[in-house]
Amino acid sequence: MKRITLCCLCVFITITLWAQEIFSEKKILKLMGCRFEITAVATDKTIAQQAIEDGIKEISRIEKLISEWDSTTQTSAINQNAGIAPVSVDKELFDLIFRSNKVSELTGGAFDISFASMDRIWHFDKAEHPLPDSATVKTAATHINWRNIVLDAQHQTVFLREKGMKIGFGAIGKGYSANRAKAVMEKIPGVVGGVVNASGDLLAWGQSNHKDGWSIQIADPKDKSKALGWIRLNNLAIVTSGDYEKYFTSNGIRYAHIINPKTGYPITGIKSVTIICPDAEISDALATSVCVMGIDKGLELINKLNGVECMMIDVNDKIYTSDKLQLNYYK
Ligand code: ADP
Ligand code: MG
Repeated sequence: MKRITLCCLCVFITITLWAQEIFSEKKILKLMGCRFEITAVATDKTIAQQAIEDGIKEISRIEKLISEWDSTTQTSAINQNAGIAPVSVDKELFDLIFRSNKVSELTGGAFDISFASMDRIWHFDKAEHPLPDSATVKTAATHINWRNIVLDAQHQTVFLREKGMKIGFGAIGKGYSANRAKAVMEKIPGVVGGVVNASGDLLAWGQSNHKDGWSIQIADPKDKSKALGWIRLNNLAIVTSGDYEKYFTSNGIRYAHIINPKTGYPITGIKSVTIICPDAEISDALATSVCVMGIDKGLELINKLNGVECMMIDVNDKIYTSDKLQLNYYK
């Protein structure tokens, strides 16, 4: 008798869930200089549309704070005052720089937002050109040092200790804004799920309008038109860094837009690093870091971090994965 009741209860719950109709809306637009695709799933079409607009507003607000290209941002003020004076900033920016420095510490300096002093030297224009003179690179690289980003919590100021220093959030800003957009969107009553996809850096949460939930196809490095498998994304971010979009070549060698802070040179030898973890900011920062650390050291770090997985592809299309990555291969 008990079993029958339980059985009936299950049927009842199932029917209620399926009875609730959900709507999915998507918008594609350019934000932070790259292509964003924002999806909201909600109990009502207009709620989904509103959630997308709120997500966009949040990302644009963050851009106004962290862009190093816009001369009016607080980030630019920090850069303009390098070696001159501490700059007082919003707590949000202060905290982002604090967390960036924590990643630098965790990765032994592979991640370093003061890499940006090198953007006077390198141009990732997809063209073939000679390397700059090594002495020039060496001198410019002396300005990269996250320990010279001085944070004063009491006065909420940031000071770049040396003239010529510069910071940039290219390796963490998209992840941070994806986290923030999600936070804003999921608070709206009626929103049950969503995806923020910043040029392939993707954060998915909650309910999907697909019956199997959110998942992402992983392209076969040997034939990009084919997928070699898929990964289920239940409340996870998946972020890829590599040489596929921004790069240049010299003597046939491909240099990706990720700088090794120790040498000042762009990285070579790695096609891509994909990080999967619940937090888009951490995924973003670690994807860039692991590119710098290389296969062995990168895998060693990721295998030590709980809830963080990774997949790496080298220039010979060899795939490496962290110990607990759940990649479903197509047969
Ligand atoms: P993508 O922009 O393709 O998603 P990344 O997240 O790896 O790739 O970001 C690369 C960007 O990060 C570069 O264009 C640059 O702005 C910045 N960057 C480059 N090297 C470093 C580094 N060692 N540490 C922190 N940021 C970096
Ligand atoms: Mg990154």
